[in-house]
Amino acid sequence: MLANPESVILVTGGTGLVGSAIKHVIKTCQDPRFGALPNEKWVYATSKDADLSDRTATLALFERIHPTHVIHLAAMVGGLFRNMKYQSDFLRLNLLINDNVLHAAHTYGVKKVVSCLSTCIFPDKTTYPIDETMIHSGPPHDSNYGYAYAKRLIDVQNRAYNQQYGCQFTSVIPTNIFGPNDNFDLEDSHVIPGLLHKCYLAKQSGQDLIVSGTGLPLRQFIYSHDLAKLFIWTLREYDSIVPIILSVPESAEISIRDIVTHLTKSMGFTGNVRWDKTKADGQYRKTASNKKLAELLPGFEFTPFEEALDATVKWFLENYETARK
Ligand code: NAP
Ligand code: GDP
Repeated sequence: MLANPESVILVTGGTGLVGSAIKHVIKTCQDPRFGALPNEKWVYATSKDADLSDRTATLALFERIHPTHVIHLAAMVGGLFRNMKYQSDFLRLNLLINDNVLHAAHTYGVKKVVSCLSTCIFPDKTTYPIDETMIHSGPPHDSNYGYAYAKRLIDVQNRAYNQQYGCQFTSVIPTNIFGPNDNFDLEDSHVIPGLLHKCYLAKQSGQDLIVSGTGLPLRQFIYSHDLAKLFIWTLREYDSIVPIILSVPESAEISIRDIVTHLTKSMGFTGNVRWDKTKADGQYRKTASNKKLAELLPGFEFTPFEEALDATVKWFLENYETARK
């Protein structure tokens, strides 16, 4: 549990996919490991509260909130195709945001920061499964090197802040995430929200569902509500500055082709599926090991994939007008 009697936890990126899931879990979860605690005040910041790529605005946010702890989620985020289009923006914006947040956290004496990396940042040419020791062991896949190098530098900064100043700044490495409040944009989103929206439109119009790539790549997916619990656990219980992978087991890895099968079933889509093999596949696989997590938090129960997908589909259909798309 957090040591101070009154902890103020600032969640940057607090309205996004992961931020809103943390808010949901803190509000609703009855399990004391993950739900609200009387000594904790949670503050969820959006880009309207402060543009974190701006140093002055970032410092002003920390001056207003005076957080004792930070979960740092804010980032320029996107799926394969957005990453390929905006390498420079992904690199520069994320470098700025991360540097500003960690600098402000140090300046304001924040006791602990948990920042968010991604399994996308691991080396492309590697051995499997990938573990936490391998982040810097080779270049990332070409499709997202801007995002990957910016994220890798969080780990470098965390070590430097710890060595020079003793700061407790750590990071987590989630796999692909999905759930309510995701970005369901047709082009710039990740595969599940993007395909969910495309499937919805194909069903409405009676047209074919066109899926990008060959469908062969493999991915691990984590439900945002499960990840939120693991973030809260990391903040309260994980004591090391060394990153930790937050992932479903390797056995839960699934092909994009199988994702389409589950998604069309969940959406009740019975039309044709066509594969646009002129579109990129991205990295073939990035199978990550969750051994360290399983040892530190044994028995954590992940929501079964199909149940989580059905909940996401239900949320999207119920919130179609206001969902990000
Ligand atoms: P998201 O839904 O796109 O949310 C991003 C959040 O960051 C939003 O709240 C956004 O605020 C905020 N933000 C963006 N630019 C900002 C800026 N300049 N100043 C202040 N706030 C800014 O992203 P997410 O999927 O929840 O991702 C959360 C974290 O997980 C990110 O660090 C991401 O890299 C990481 N991650 C995501 C995935 C995935 O599959 N989604 C996988 C691995 C790791 P506004 O809405 O106000 O703009
Ligand atoms: P990644 O895990 O970082 O590569 O991110 P994505 O969530 O964007 O998944 C990319 C994989 O899904 C690639 O193999 C794509 O070819 C495939 N894919 C199929 N349809 C889509 C789609 O509509 N959007 C996205 N982002 N990827 C798609």
